[in-house]
Amino acid sequence: MSAKGFRSRLRHLLRRRYLLPILAFGGPLVAISFVQYRWLEELRTRSKTIELQQNHEAAVSAVLLLEDKMSGPRLNTLPAVVHADVLDLRLDILARQFDDGLQRFPYVERFFAWVPPTPPRESIFYFPEEGGFRRAPELVDRMPTEVWQIYGGTERWAEFASLPGDPPYQIVVHRLLDDNDLTLEGIVAFVVNLETFGRSYLPSFYTETMVPMLREVVGNESTPVAFYDENGKCLFSSGGNAVDFPPDSSVEFEVSFATPAEGAGTRQAPRWYLSVGQADSGGVEELQRRGAFANLAIVGAGILVLTLGTVLIARTSSREAQLSDLKSRFISGISHELKTPLSLIRLYSEMLELDRVPDEVERKRFYRHLRHQAEALGDMLEQILDFSRLKAEQQVLRKESCPAKDIIEDAVEMLMASSPDRRVSLLVEGDLPELTCDRHGLVRVFYNLLENAAKYSAPDRPINVHAASRDGALTVDITDQGTGISAQELPHIFERFYRGESSQGVKGTGLGLSIADMVVKAHRGRIEVESKAGEGSRFTVILPTSSSGGRT
Ligand code: ADP
Repeated sequence: MSAKGFRSRLRHLLRRRYLLPILAFGGPLVAISFVQYRWLEELRTRSKTIELQQNHEAAVSAVLLLEDKMSGPRLNTLPAVVHADVLDLRLDILARQFDDGLQRFPYVERFFAWVPPTPPRESIFYFPEEGGFRRAPELVDRMPTEVWQIYGGTERWAEFASLPGDPPYQIVVHRLLDDNDLTLEGIVAFVVNLETFGRSYLPSFYTETMVPMLREVVGNESTPVAFYDENGKCLFSSGGNAVDFPPDSSVEFEVSFATPAEGAGTRQAPRWYLSVGQADSGGVEELQRRGAFANLAIVGAGILVLTLGTVLIARTSSREAQLSDLKSRFISGISHELKTPLSLIRLYSEMLELDRVPDEVERKRFYRHLRHQAEALGDMLEQILDFSRLKAEQQVLRKESCPAKDIIEDAVEMLMASSPDRRVSLLVEGDLPELTCDRHGLVRVFYNLLENAAKYSAPDRPINVHAASRDGALTVDITDQGTGISAQELPHIFERFYRGESSQGVKGTGLGLSIADMVVKAHRGRIEVESKAGEGSRFTVILPTSSSGGRT
């Protein structure tokens, strides 16, 4: 629809009776949906707050339960060495074991052994790249002195001083004690690269240890967890990215992966923090959002349906009113039209019956009048029957092949028979094709148009018929110099029962054009009109000839 068309349609809607019902229904509905929208928004905000609180509480209890479970899981993550091999310094065996261990524990970078009474600085380090052991006093210097001290326990963590640019290191020290656990017989230690450790150990720790734990404790193994080092750097996150943790629904607690330190002066194992987030709540928020959307959509659809319904009802009732108006005009018109020939028939027949017309010539004239009136009645009835047949869609086009010219000539002859004094000129341009059509139906179409041209123009005005066949269509113009049709009336003349201004005092039913239109459309054609009030009209029937259609 063009902008102009849309504007005029809108104006039409606003001007008409639709405006009131639209406002009456639409106004309250818009208000209701606004209130509902506000209410849903508030509900969403409140439930979001509650959900966050619940998440946090759930995370806290999950952390407490996990803390219980995780207090000091052993760092069972180092190459196994047999003490005797260390004490007896079976270096070949140790080197082999350590090479194997290196494959499995990539975060262990150095291994060293010390057996007293050798001075600590003379302890031997394994250099995997060199494939053997040697002394490395410079590395000993980076170890804290408590490594060499005697105190209880078998495993300790100590800091291994990093050189500038190095990653943080820890050494895990295993003390080899005598059978009574009293005398320190030797030490094996592993230098662990904490960054590599976080990267390579934590993922498997998560899948193997944390996931079953989360399933058991939280009841949801997809609960996100992340490990941070002492400086807050994320070492591992089950969600892949620690930043994803919503701060208000996660809590942290310390995890140590070694035996808790004992005794004064000992170094703690690295302190890492585990942060527990909240598992996806099953899309509650999404659910709410969708719920709100669906709700609003339903209200919107309701508004639309009601508005459309209102418009439809208003339109239908206005159509019905128009139709019933037209019908009552039709009935009063038709009864008037029927009365005239009927009373004439009665009058003539009474006069003939009572022998009031002695003159033979005069009597013949009376008989002719009788016949004309009967024909007029028949015509009228035929038109009404045609219409109701077409209306009930019972019209079955009796298709036959016949020359277009014959159809037009038949219609012209019919007009000449009913209006012998009328000047009708028929101009046929070139040869007209054969049509496969309902001959009777099309003759009526042309006759209706010719009859209208005669009815709505002065008796001395000529009627011109021009027929031509071009571009696969038969075009027949019927032009008169009559009253013409005003621009306001023009859009309505094909409506059933419609009778225009010019029809006053002229016999008719208001069905002629509507029947003609239906028949032509059934042949896949159309009727066009050009008319100017006071000057005349041209009705053009355009029928396709290449494949003449229509229902059969
Ligand atoms: P009617 O029985 O009134 O002629 P129609 O359906 O044939 O019914 O025509 C509808 C109306 O269109 C007429 O009442 C008349 O106002 C107008 N009309 C139709 N044909 C002509 C014409 N040739 N000249 C002027 N007005 C016409």
